[in-house]
Amino acid sequence: MGTRATAALLALALCLGAATVHAQSTGGFAQFVESVWPDAQAAGVSRVTFDRAFKGVTPDMALPDLVLPGKQPSQVKGQAEFVRPPQDYLNKAQLAQLATNGKAFLAKHLPWLERIEQEIGVERHVVMGIWGRETAYGTHKLPHYAIRVLATQAWLGRRKEMFRKELIAGLKMLEDKHITVETMRSSWAGALGLPQFMPSEYDIHAYDLDRDGKKDIWNSVPDALASAAKQLKSKGWILGLPWGFEVTLPAKVDCALEGPGDARSLGEWAKLGVTQIGGKPFPEKLRDQPAYLMSPGGTHGPMFLATENFKVIRAYNTSDLYAVFVGHLGDRIAGGGDFATPWRGIGQLPTAEIEETQQRLKERGFAIGIIDGKIGSNTRKQIGLFQRASGMAVDCWPGAPTLARLRASVATR
Ligand code: CA
Repeated sequence: MGTRATAALLALALCLGAATVHAQSTGGFAQFVESVWPDAQAAGVSRVTFDRAFKGVTPDMALPDLVLPGKQPSQVKGQAEFVRPPQDYLNKAQLAQLATNGKAFLAKHLPWLERIEQEIGVERHVVMGIWGRETAYGTHKLPHYAIRVLATQAWLGRRKEMFRKELIAGLKMLEDKHITVETMRSSWAGALGLPQFMPSEYDIHAYDLDRDGKKDIWNSVPDALASAAKQLKSKGWILGLPWGFEVTLPAKVDCALEGPGDARSLGEWAKLGVTQIGGKPFPEKLRDQPAYLMSPGGTHGPMFLATENFKVIRAYNTSDLYAVFVGHLGDRIAGGGDFATPWRGIGQLPTAEIEETQQRLKERGFAIGIIDGKIGSNTRKQIGLFQRASGMAVDCWPGAPTLARLRASVATR
């Protein structure tokens, strides 16, 4: 058999193979859906609702975060909060634009936001910050049917268990007639409506501020904003407490003091010589409030003391950058300006090298939890501690010099 004929046969075989995989996966999806039924039924979903919810629904193989045969995990799209350096995520132009638009939206919805402050106890500006970050004040379209997304993620996603629970919660929302199959729109990750709630969060936090008997987080701005506020309040929001302060550190305090484990009161921080940027003292009435050091770009950008309210925003979406974005956007809408400290062009190592940095730190006894290639608060801190112990310049940021030092020191051990 000639090479060309072999190649043609091979191509045909591959093609048939792909077709088989596709047929299996479509059949597999129907099986998966049926496997969800007993749990849905137990949660109070009727068969009529269940069948209507899944009528004509196919898996959406174009969604990010799926684990597919033949696709390497590195090709899986990560959350923007972790794969972009801080100055890209906290984009100056985008923040300025969102702040301008936020002021206009705030003026437009002011009576509702005043009512949210009175009824729920969350400041208008942080609510606007959430709304701006999540859907650019409702201007982002939600392109997906939530049940399709939740089912696909529960079937093939990286976080199957979580999405299976959310899928059942979503079906229950249809059963309870909070929303219809036609209007249940979500993001690629199944987040619903203007405040981007997961279905399980809807049940707990959705709020009928306009008193029409419906908790409509898709079309009612008052309901959506109040629901976002309700979620912050349920997670411990303290009225009158800023999310954080941009700070200046004295020479004896370095960035390796980052993290909730080294939290202390604002009064204690003041005693160590930490001040708000420009030397301004912390408000006297907040001296007893706990706060921890947090520097999303190590020493290469603004550094913050983050309060309990920072943790509350972070609970909305577990990322330092997300929480800084929301808090800072709120400050800007309230009339504040840009960060005082510029981001000084921080590069980001490839994920594999960040993982190697984490791995080598761990091998040397530094308290790295998971090796995930993400530059979270603890990774920054452990890098800072290693740099301090090695007599290097302490910048709490993974870079080539730190990795080189780690490689050399392991080799000579
Ligand atoms: Ca309503």
